[in-house]
Amino acid sequence: MNAAVSPLCAQSDTAPVAIPHYINGDHVAQSTGRSSAVFNPASGTQTGALPLADPAMVDRAVAAAAAAFPAWSQTPPIRRARVLFKFRQLVEANADKLAAQLTAEHGKTHSDALGEVTRGLEVIEFACGIPHLLKGEFSENVGAQIDACSVRQPLGVVTGITPFNFPAMVPMWMFPIAIACGNCFVLKPSERDPSVSLLLAEWLTEAGLPAGVFNVVHGDKVAVDALLEHPDVQAVSFVGSTPIARYIYETGCKHGKRVQALGGAKNHMLVMPDADLDQAADALMGAGYGSAGERCMAISVAVAVGDATADALVERLAPQVQALKIGPGSGEVDMGPLITAAHRDKVRGYVDLGVTEGAKLVVDGRAHVVDGAENGFFLGGCLFDQVTPAMRIYQEEIFGPVLCILRVESYEQGLQLINDHEYGNGVALFTRDGDAARDFVQRVQVGMVGVNVPIPVPSAFHSFGGWKSSLFGDHHVYGPEGVRFYTRLKAVTSRWPTSIRAGAQFVMPTGG
Ligand code: NAD
Repeated sequence: MNAAVSPLCAQSDTAPVAIPHYINGDHVAQSTGRSSAVFNPASGTQTGALPLADPAMVDRAVAAAAAAFPAWSQTPPIRRARVLFKFRQLVEANADKLAAQLTAEHGKTHSDALGEVTRGLEVIEFACGIPHLLKGEFSENVGAQIDACSVRQPLGVVTGITPFNFPAMVPMWMFPIAIACGNCFVLKPSERDPSVSLLLAEWLTEAGLPAGVFNVVHGDKVAVDALLEHPDVQAVSFVGSTPIARYIYETGCKHGKRVQALGGAKNHMLVMPDADLDQAADALMGAGYGSAGERCMAISVAVAVGDATADALVERLAPQVQALKIGPGSGEVDMGPLITAAHRDKVRGYVDLGVTEGAKLVVDGRAHVVDGAENGFFLGGCLFDQVTPAMRIYQEEIFGPVLCILRVESYEQGLQLINDHEYGNGVALFTRDGDAARDFVQRVQVGMVGVNVPIPVPSAFHSFGGWKSSLFGDHHVYGPEGVRFYTRLKAVTSRWPTSIRAGAQFVMPTGG
């Protein structure tokens, strides 16, 4: 190990720890160059100093991955799966430690962090089935004594660029499948909560992953651009905000790479008058305020069909939003802080804007103070009623504990509203009417749909992705789509000539 300090003491609020990169199976310190601060958002204290890689450091990580690729891609899939199986055991055994590290830099509650880890584990479990997933197709006698098969082969060096809000799960959406398929991976995690990626890297090495197959480089736009332009990077998986996703997609494609870029969201829940409104309100509480609203699948808009439905929801929601237990995520609370002071201020600015735009602020959490954690990046839960489609608080992603209620007169009007929105990540319908539910599932222009399920994140055996401005590219992430994204198809047609020669053939060969 190089002379870098382990990042794992970043949970304590002592002197900031120097966080290393992880390249070729080892920590790599960076003593010169640019750096950025990592905070414990619950206390507002700087806990880490993060090196921001320059193109030379990125090149070092890509070179390590490229050097590891020939042997790793030739390793039988069953052996690659066994490494992942050991890695899975390590993640499960250390889930508590991973979750604690995650809470220390992200701020979400420990139980929520454990849920995130479990979602990541499920993708590793899926990837352990890679020998089965990579089985090709075979056709006998596509022509006289000619056989054909199709196989999927790894791409080479692939990269993942990930957001702050799921620092364990989103990387685990990507790299277990990528490396199971035989690729080598360079992860560029969020610069705001980077340390969990190092734990994952260490456990991969402990599980027996050869050096260079998985690498972590920290950084900002400079590192990302170096990856996007690097001639040895074959594919880019990105998850983050829509403007950056669009940039990643365009730049990566321009440099000849395969790209999947998942962007932001504004997820609606359409609540029908016949829904169980107690259940709908509970679902809105969890989906709107869980993880302080910093989830790409958070519900940030409730669309109530009819004034009576809206009034009943407000009546149920308002006291619950006021009663939210807010504090450091390591304690027994419903909601932790936001990721940074700047983001907290941005979300608070949206609440100010909503008031200016004329929405009715039913619960105002702007002045919320957490006793004993006055410097933390906290914001109380906020609830708006009477929001209209013309308002920016409806159109734009806020990414905080702010729920907007819109009132519509009919199911059709609600559906149209959702279909007209720029984003199409997740959506939910709450109803007891199977006919309406079936119609909704068929006609809604959104990638992931829940029927009486507020956060319809697909299981690891399906795939995750939005529509419209929530995803740029052709493939969703993880599940079968992940295997397709991280492999390319090769079709082989073969004949073993018999001793009878047919002579030269000048017509187009056909099977018939
Ligand atoms: P972000 O777009 O600011 O950052 C994501 C990644 O891009 C980070 O690694 C960051 O370092 C990098 N980056 C930032 N600015 C860049 C630039 N100018 N050029 C190149 N790279 C840059 O997103 P975030 O704030 O970390 O995460 C929150 C966002 O992610 C929200 O919009 C949320 O909806 C979205 N998100 C989407 C999904 C999904 O599945 N669709 C999942 C999680 C989060």
